[in-house]
Amino acid sequence: MIHSRLTAAISLMAACVLGCAPAVQPAASPVPSAATVTAAPTAAVNDMILGPNLGMFEDARIAATLADIDHARIGHTDSTLVSFGTRHTYSDTTSTSRGIGAARRWIFAQLSQYSRECNGCLRVEFDTATMAMPYDTRGPRRITNVLAWLPGRDTSRVIVMGGHYDSCVCVQTVAGAGLPAGTAYVPRLDSTATAPGANDDGSGSSAVIELARVFSKRFPRGLGATIIFALYDAEEQGLVGSTHLAERLVKGRYDVLAGMTDDIAGNVTAADGYTDSTSMRVFGADPDTSRSRELLRFVQAAQYTYIPRFTILPVFRLDRVNRGGDHRPFVERGMPGVRFSERVENENRQHLPGDMLGFVNYPYLANLARVNAAVIGELAESPATPDSARATRISLGTSGGRRWVFSWKPVPNAASYEILVRRTTAPQYDRVIAAGNVTRIELDLQLDDYWAAVRAVGTNGHRSLGAVVPTVTRVIPRAGSAP
Ligand SMILES: [Zn+2]
Repeated sequence: MIHSRLTAAISLMAACVLGCAPAVQPAASPVPSAATVTAAPTAAVNDMILGPNLGMFEDARIAATLADIDHARIGHTDSTLVSFGTRHTYSDTTSTSRGIGAARRWIFAQLSQYSRECNGCLRVEFDTATMAMPYDTRGPRRITNVLAWLPGRDTSRVIVMGGHYDSCVCVQTVAGAGLPAGTAYVPRLDSTATAPGANDDGSGSSAVIELARVFSKRFPRGLGATIIFALYDAEEQGLVGSTHLAERLVKGRYDVLAGMTDDIAGNVTAADGYTDSTSMRVFGADPDTSRSRELLRFVQAAQYTYIPRFTILPVFRLDRVNRGGDHRPFVERGMPGVRFSERVENENRQHLPGDMLGFVNYPYLANLARVNAAVIGELAESPATPDSARATRISLGTSGGRRWVFSWKPVPNAASYEILVRRTTAPQYDRVIAAGNVTRIELDLQLDDYWAAVRAVGTNGHRSLGAVVPTVTRVIPRAGSAP
């Protein structure tokens, strides 16, 4: 039975017509279909095994953008950031050579230069606010992010790609970390000590600045959605800069597709010498049906599609245990967010004078930035998520015991819709049902045993993030049966 269903699924792949994934690959261990999909009254249905690309295909313009990412430029940017001595939020703002003021003016100038090279396509700004400081009892403080906006055709939908440019030396001394003998503790508010922050987060900041360069060069007229390249202040003081931007976007009623951060992104060797330069971690918060988790699944598909040799360890968790990052303020406000980080950390060099340039691997960091670019490009070209999706069970006594209707409201620029399906225990979708250009489909699918997500396929072929169902709104009663 299982075998014949698989055979049927594969033959459907061969017969795939409009609305099917152009590059479907069988999953390594395909989950047998528990449902025999029947013809629905509203559409012809194709039920296919879904490969790890989730039906995403390579867009040549996005691939070219990845290819433009230059590890030597990223390294040069990072070395310039380190040259300011410290980028502590409370450090000197007037010096032209040392402190956070000089650092942010240099970042602003660099992004402005990229904007000149694309005929003014980037909107570069100092994004300033007076914010409460979680670690400082003296009261609120002025903080300054540096932002570069690449407006898209739709300026209300935004993708945030950030890193924090502030640094600190703010942990207990670790032997061999480069602090003078006898130095036991350097407080978080010390604004004069040298804090190179080459990896935390010169690495992420340099990657984001490079992403602003390559996207502005390739897409001077923007993509579908607007991209904000964000260099945050005061991450080390309690995620303050990203909190401000997240609040600003909420107040501005933007539709934030993703609040993403690159943080601690360029180290490849742990303290014991263990090395990994071919994979990275991506953190996506609980619950399993959250928008952040859907974003993480999208990230996995983009990585597999564009840069398959540089793999992802997906982590189903907001962040490392007891640690934080600049995606968190977005996630806490209901927006999808993920954190990109190196595969192995070396905490002997974090928040310490030992966080130096020589310990950042720029070819590795460039690959991490390429994953960022794939995600940004795919998301920016995707149609809106059909987040009105609902699943309603309508009858009993079918092959799986239930029969369900999926319905949703149409979204702009959608040519068709697809239903992604996975077991409740499966981390990733492994089936796709091409629904066609409809907003209601009836399936003989025992949804009590699955998670499903509805996504839009754009007129350009790009896929949206999925909207997870069931969100059961009503049960159609049947005489003599319990709902
Ligand atoms: Zn950091």
